[in-house]
Amino acid sequence: MSTLGVAFRPLPRIDEGDGCGIDRPIAVTALSRSVKLEPEATLRCDTALELARMTRDMLEPAARLAMPEKGRLTAVHHASAYVCRNRNGADDGKISEHARGNAIDLSSLEFEKGIVPMSIARPEASDLPAAFQRSLNAFACLYFRTVLSPGSDAAHQDHLHLDILERNGGFRYCR
Ligand SMILES: [Zn+2]
Repeated sequence: MSTLGVAFRPLPRIDEGDGCGIDRPIAVTALSRSVKLEPEATLRCDTALELARMTRDMLEPAARLAMPEKGRLTAVHHASAYVCRNRNGADDGKISEHARGNAIDLSSLEFEKGIVPMSIARPEASDLPAAFQRSLNAFACLYFRTVLSPGSDAAHQDHLHLDILERNGGFRYCR
């Protein structure tokens, strides 16, 4: 984490019952020395690590190719990190990976010259922003075991859900 330049501080153990909680939570404020995470996100260390690796190795280079006119990536914005709730906010059913600190919902990327929101990239869309979003949706699956792209279902229209849920046989669910 420190070699990546991730800025974080340890938080006290979280246990809200019903399976909600993180043994060793951290509050993350930056993914590298130059890219902030806004607002501050409560996560498990492993989740922050994958997001920081993806940002450095894939997101920044891809954004540079796709949108050089926007300048340097300065922040990744999220809509939700740790939160005690069920999947998709339902009253019953499985607990969300957000409730374990395993998940984060990216909402937009901030550059020196503007903000790029996460957007639904139709397969047939032939413009560069759509190509960038499709690339992001795809390479996120190299770092996270669940990727729900904007538009993949009714609950995911304006954000990119990423989580590190462990599955049998290394199976990944990326849509
Ligand atoms: Zn989510």
